[in-house]
Amino acid sequence: MERKEFLRLAALLPFVGAGMNIKALSTLAEHFPATDTMPALFLGHGSPMNAIEENEFVAGFRTIAKTIPRPKAILCVSAHWETKGTYVTAMEQPRTIHDFGGFPQALFDVQYPAPGSPALAEETKALITKTTILSDHEWGLDHGTWSVVKHLYPNADIPIIQLSLDYSQPPQYHYELAQQLQQLRNKGILLIGSGNMVHNLRLLDWRKLSVTNYAFDWAKEAQEKMTSYILSDNHDQLIHYAKHGKAFELAIPTPEHYLPLLYILALKKKNEHPQLFNNHYVAGSLTMTSVIIA
Ligand code: ZN
Repeated sequence: MERKEFLRLAALLPFVGAGMNIKALSTLAEHFPATDTMPALFLGHGSPMNAIEENEFVAGFRTIAKTIPRPKAILCVSAHWETKGTYVTAMEQPRTIHDFGGFPQALFDVQYPAPGSPALAEETKALITKTTILSDHEWGLDHGTWSVVKHLYPNADIPIIQLSLDYSQPPQYHYELAQQLQQLRNKGILLIGSGNMVHNLRLLDWRKLSVTNYAFDWAKEAQEKMTSYILSDNHDQLIHYAKHGKAFELAIPTPEHYLPLLYILALKKKNEHPQLFNNHYVAGSLTMTSVIIA
């Protein structure tokens, strides 16, 4: 290419970019007209069995859903979809993924046939400038999503997409990326993070599974600090969780179940107050604590 031609094309680039954004924004208005700010949710999902069991946690999910205006669509960040780079599911009909082993057939029989939303996937890609979000046509809904969302919306009639977790990025990055999703809350979109704050499966005490609220001392220490940081909007301490020592090391042995919390906290507006629900320990080393931002 001649230098002159290169310069001519280079000069056009900003307009091409701007044109794409205008198109994306007009599509957003078309598909998702302005609404009041939707709440945002972090859901502690725990065992996949919560999908088919009746217990206080699923009752908590049903109760919280009743306090939320019916969403136009849902965007969920699940602990169970980690990728290099960040993807959104962009298919019309996401499959129900049974991404676990050793559970009863009844759990593998669960289907959650909610439609996807290629339109919301496009809008999400257009909103985020921190990185290039890629479209995915292979994934679907993993159990981090369907095992909890099915209790909120059992009819599976609300379009839903997933946003993946880039495993190569530090917590601050996830927090900042999530901040760019803020506009969706005013378009009737319910943003959900699904994980667990304290999540150490290796140390679970299975004999204490049926003992209500059983917690190891380190789990209590980490959980109490986390909830106090959440309720006092001290997000910096939550982003830099790795500096808090042994209790946090045990509570967050790997980041994927914790990071979805940061996605939801990043969406908190100044005049909003986080509230906790399902705030209980399970088998020593797991917490089901969930948060609504509203
Ligand atoms: Zn999980």
